[in-house]
Amino acid sequence: MLDLLNLIGGEYREAQNGTWLDNIDPATGQIFARIPRSGKDDVAAAYTAAESAFPLWSRTSIEKRAACLRNLAHIVSQNAEALAQAESQDNGKPLSLARAVDIPRAEKNLAFFAGAIEQFPSEAHIPAGPTHINYTHRKPIGVVGCISPWNLPLYLFTWKIAPALAAGNCVIAKPSEITPVTAWMLSQWIEEAGFPPGVFNVLHGLGPEVGQAIVEHPGIKAISFTGGTSTGAHIARTTASMFKKLSLELGGKNPAIIFSDCDFDAALATTVRSSFANQGQICLCSSRILIEDSIYDRFRDALIEKVKRMIPGDPLDEQTKMGAVVSAAHRDKIIQHIELAKSEGGQLLCGGGKASAPNNRCEDGFFVAPTVFENLGANCQLNQQEVFGPVITLQRFYSEDEAIQLANATEYGLAATIWTTDLKKAHRTAARVESGIAWVNCWLVRDLRTPFGGVKASGVGREGGWEALRFFTEPQNVCIEL
Ligand code: NAD
Repeated sequence: MLDLLNLIGGEYREAQNGTWLDNIDPATGQIFARIPRSGKDDVAAAYTAAESAFPLWSRTSIEKRAACLRNLAHIVSQNAEALAQAESQDNGKPLSLARAVDIPRAEKNLAFFAGAIEQFPSEAHIPAGPTHINYTHRKPIGVVGCISPWNLPLYLFTWKIAPALAAGNCVIAKPSEITPVTAWMLSQWIEEAGFPPGVFNVLHGLGPEVGQAIVEHPGIKAISFTGGTSTGAHIARTTASMFKKLSLELGGKNPAIIFSDCDFDAALATTVRSSFANQGQICLCSSRILIEDSIYDRFRDALIEKVKRMIPGDPLDEQTKMGAVVSAAHRDKIIQHIELAKSEGGQLLCGGGKASAPNNRCEDGFFVAPTVFENLGANCQLNQQEVFGPVITLQRFYSEDEAIQLANATEYGLAATIWTTDLKKAHRTAARVESGIAWVNCWLVRDLRTPFGGVKASGVGREGGWEALRFFTEPQNVCIEL
């Protein structure tokens, strides 16, 4: 049994209340680790450590801060295999996916923001015939909170902490209680990477307890949060009267729009991936597949043939493309969505419930068969509510206008995928789709310099590149008489 600990002021500590939470391997259903069930007192201790580290860290040269991040990136790359194994065990995702995506991207996040802070410009405004000159001084904010979810554990954890630290803030970070292991591993390399004690603190525990205490702490001036829309709304309400800076990356119900003039094979292959990668547990996954009438039947039949061959396997098996979903509770929630869709008259094309265990080791694991429905109206629950699992719907459209109307017919607006070979149509559709990201003839291609985030109920603010560094700094206008 592995006991994880909090990192506070450079020391590894249990929760002050001495209590623990079990951590379960979703592929086997077995407990394999415990995490501290931290609370308010631990947040207070982390805040004291972070606050006292801030004066020095905020004045530390950009080169030194960048070097610490690069050192950490290097340590991550040296431990990539151990991290990938841990991520797979903790989350249920295929080991091959953790190796190919999660861990390389975590390393890239750290290295990227090391480079970004070295290039981060601030503005100057010089009027003609100048009497005054203005420049913008971007100062670190102070102590900031970074709260991340379970679906891409180290990937999203590093995506937040890297810009926060690069910009000169001290961080109190909370990984998801469901997938805490890789954040714990990272916390053990902080000193080796060169970060002074207190600059980076990690607290483990439940969202409504330690997460809530971070959000409520009056000294923590900014919260970068990724997670569910209802949690984001709760955080916005909690912090409103404290005027905290908030970045909220929330849920999605993403459309993939398949026009009849698309490259059929490319659209098909990528839509299968965009729907079911990580068991459908990526906020950017397509969950509503909108298909133009003239190719609807052909596309549906080809898609179902491919999906039927996607059989969930043991995540540790190198061949596995689809693993376990993250927890028993999440599996049950996904099944409830499926049952509701059946009761709403959805036509089940494949899947539709639990998948059988791939082997004896996994007989108590949490596996769901990839599931496809059609004949559900745009207002049905399954076309409105985020499932965050391997469940998609197919809808037919007859015109470009109708495709856009269907694409926009939810409260969410995170990512859209558009498939067409008509360049003008691609531009028109991307412009009219209500989403923070529109991918044309591709999916999940990420240039870390680009703004990342959602509109409507998918979030507030943007991460990535300068957007993240702007979020984690406070701009001050300095005006000088010449
Ligand atoms: P969640 O909202 O339940 O939890 C996210 C994090 O918030 C966890 O660390 C949790 O402990 C913490 N938390 C929960 N309650 C809290 C509270 N009251 N105060 C402070 N922190 C609290 O979400 P989840 O189930 O972990 O993740 C799945 C959700 O995340 C999905 O809705 C998915 O779409 C979303 N997501 C969004 C993005 C994005 O970039 N937009 C990326 C990944 C996941």
